[in-house]
Amino acid sequence: MAQKQTLSFQAEVAQLLHLVTHSLYSNKEIFLRELISNASDACDKLRFEALNDPSLYEDAPTLEVRVSFDKEAKTLTIADNGIGLSQQEAIDNLGTIAKSGTREFVSRLSGDQKSDAQLIGQFGVGFYSGFIVADKITVESRRAGLKPEEGVRWVSGGAGDFEVEQITRPQRGTSVTLHLRDEALDYLSTWKLKSIIGKYSDHISLPILMRKEEWQEGEEGKGGEHVLSDEWETVNQATALWTRPKKDITPEQYREFYKAISHDYEDPLAWSHNRVEGSTEYTQLLFLPARAPFDLWNREKTAGVKLYVKRVFIMDDAEALLPAYLRFVKGVVDSADLPLNVSRELLQESRDVKAIREGNTRRVLAMLEDLAKAEKDEAASEEDKGKYARFYAEFGSVLKEGLGEDLANRERLAKLLRFASTASDTVSVSLADYKARMKDGQEAIYYITGDTQAAAANSPQLEIFRKKGLEVLYMTDRVDEWALSFLHEFEGTPLQSVAKGQVDLGKLQDEAEKKAAEEAAQSFQPVLARLKDALKDKAQDVRVTTRLVDSPACLVVTEGGMSLQLARLMKQAGQQAPNQKPVLEVNAGHPLVQKLEGSPHFDDLAHILFDQALLAEGGLPEDPAAYVKRVNALLV
Ligand code: ADP
Repeated sequence: MAQKQTLSFQAEVAQLLHLVTHSLYSNKEIFLRELISNASDACDKLRFEALNDPSLYEDAPTLEVRVSFDKEAKTLTIADNGIGLSQQEAIDNLGTIAKSGTREFVSRLSGDQKSDAQLIGQFGVGFYSGFIVADKITVESRRAGLKPEEGVRWVSGGAGDFEVEQITRPQRGTSVTLHLRDEALDYLSTWKLKSIIGKYSDHISLPILMRKEEWQEGEEGKGGEHVLSDEWETVNQATALWTRPKKDITPEQYREFYKAISHDYEDPLAWSHNRVEGSTEYTQLLFLPARAPFDLWNREKTAGVKLYVKRVFIMDDAEALLPAYLRFVKGVVDSADLPLNVSRELLQESRDVKAIREGNTRRVLAMLEDLAKAEKDEAASEEDKGKYARFYAEFGSVLKEGLGEDLANRERLAKLLRFASTASDTVSVSLADYKARMKDGQEAIYYITGDTQAAAANSPQLEIFRKKGLEVLYMTDRVDEWALSFLHEFEGTPLQSVAKGQVDLGKLQDEAEKKAAEEAAQSFQPVLARLKDALKDKAQDVRVTTRLVDSPACLVVTEGGMSLQLARLMKQAGQQAPNQKPVLEVNAGHPLVQKLEGSPHFDDLAHILFDQALLAEGGLPEDPAAYVKRVNALLV
C-alpha cells in the first residue's frame, strides 16, 4: 500500500457508528475502559505469541499502556506496545465487525434512542466507542515482527468511510488518538482521567502510565498551575484482579471487571471467586450475566471463559472449561498446572482441564441454587428475590440443554427448572413446588406441550385435569420436549404428558366413573368401528376417552411417541419427523358425537371431528379446503 486509500465501512459498522454518536452520550466515559481493554488484550496477545517467538518483544519487553493528552491539540491518546495491527488487520478489524449476530443486532435497532442505547450496550461497541467523545480518530500501529516501514495510519471521522496509509513506525503496538469534540474537552485533565481509570481499569494487570503532574508557582502575584512533567507514573494497581484476596476487592470492582472482560454494559447478576486447591490448583472467577447476548443460540459459540496460565493470558472462549449448556457464563480461570503452550487440542485431553471443567460446572450450579434459594427467602431483598426469575427468563432454555448433556448433574438441574402451569401464569413453578401441591392419590407430574402458553391452556386434553383440580405444567419452550425426554421422573415421581397414551388417573377416578366410562365404551363399539374405518388414513386408532369434558374429540399420540407439536416443529425446520398417525379420542357424552350414529353424513362428521381436534391443538387439516367444504355443506 503505497498511497493513501479511502475505504468504506461495512454497512453494519456505519449504522453502529451513527448510533454511537447519537445515542450513547449518557455514559460517555466508558470509551476509556473499552480502549484500555483493547490495549490490554493486544498486550495479552503479544505475550502469548511471544511464548513461541521471543523476538517479538523486540527491544521493549515491558508491556504497558500509556494515556496522555495534549490540551492545545485537544487530543487524548491511548498507546500500547502490544501485538499491533498490520495494514490489512487495520482495514479488517477497524472497518468491519466480525462478531456473529451483528446483522440481527442491527435489524433490531428501532431508531428510538433510549432503547437503542440499551441494545447497543448489550452488543458492545468496543473500539467504536471512541466516537462518543471524538469527531475524528487516528490510529497508528505496527504489528510486532513487521518492519518499521510496514506501519499503518488509519483515520476516520466516524461517518461512512476511513483512510489508511502506510507509515514508518519504529515502535511496535498501537496508539489511538481521539480528537475530542468540543463538549468532551473535560477529558483533558489528569485528575479526571485518573479517576476514570481507577474506576474501570484498576484491575488490568498491565501498568497504565500517565505523565506526572507538577505544581508550578506563578510569577509574582499570579496563581500557580499544574503542568505535565516528562516523568511517567503508574496510575492503576496493575495486578490481575482475580489474584487479589477476596476481602480486598469491592463489589464495584468485581462489577467493573466483569464489564471489562465481557463488554457488557449491565451489571452481572452474580459472581463467584475462589481459589480451588487439591490435585489441580486454579483460581476461578465466574460471572452470571443479567442478559442473554445476541449470539446465545449460535452453536459454534463457545464459553466466555478466558484461560490464563500463571497470569499469562492463553486464550479466550476456552470451551473446554465449561460444558456448552453453560456457555453464557463469563469469567477467568487461572491455572498453575497447565503448560504455557497449551493448545485447544491439548485442552480437550488434559486431566487437569477436566477437573477444572467439573469444578466450574459445580460452582455455576451452586450460584444458581443460591439465586433460586433467595426466591423464597423472606429475609432476601426484593431485588435478590427476583434474580433467579430474571436469570431463567434469559437463560432457562439453554440451561435445559444440560438435561441431555450433563448426566452427572441431571438431578441438580431438574431442581432448577421452572414452568408456568394451570396454577401459575408466570414461569415460576419448580418440580418441587408441583410435588408439594399434588393431590392425594396423584401418581404423576402432568405436563402438556404447546406452541404457546395460550394454546396449551386451551387444549381439550386439560379438561378432565381441570375438572379434578389437578395441576398441569405448560411446556411451551421449543427445547422442552427434547429436554424432558431425558427426565423421566423427579424424585421418584414420573413425568407424564397429558397428550400421550391413555389417561389413567388411577386412584383419582372413582369406581362409578370408571364403570360409566366402560359402559359408554361398550355401547359405543359399533360407532367406533365405523369411525375407524372412515378415518383409517388419518388415525391410528379411535377410542372413547374420559379425558374430555366439554370438547367432542382430541388427538393423542401413543406412549413414547413424539408429540404432534414436536413433529410439526421438526417438519417446519425441514427435518424428517416420524410418520406417526395420532389416535382420535372421542367424548361419548358430547352431543356431536352422539349425533354420529344415525346421521346420513357420518363420513363428513367423522372427518370434521378429526380435523377440528387437529385445529384445537395447533395443527392444520391436511386438506383445509376439503374441511371447509364439509363444514359448509353441513351449515347449509
Ligand atoms: P472487540 O475487541 O470486541 O473484538 P473492537 O471493536 O473493540 O472489538 O476491536 C476490533 C478489533 O480491532 C479487535 O478485535 C482487535 O483485533 C483490533 N484492535 C482494537 N484495538 C487494538 C489495539 N490496541 N491493538 C491491536 N488490535 C486492536
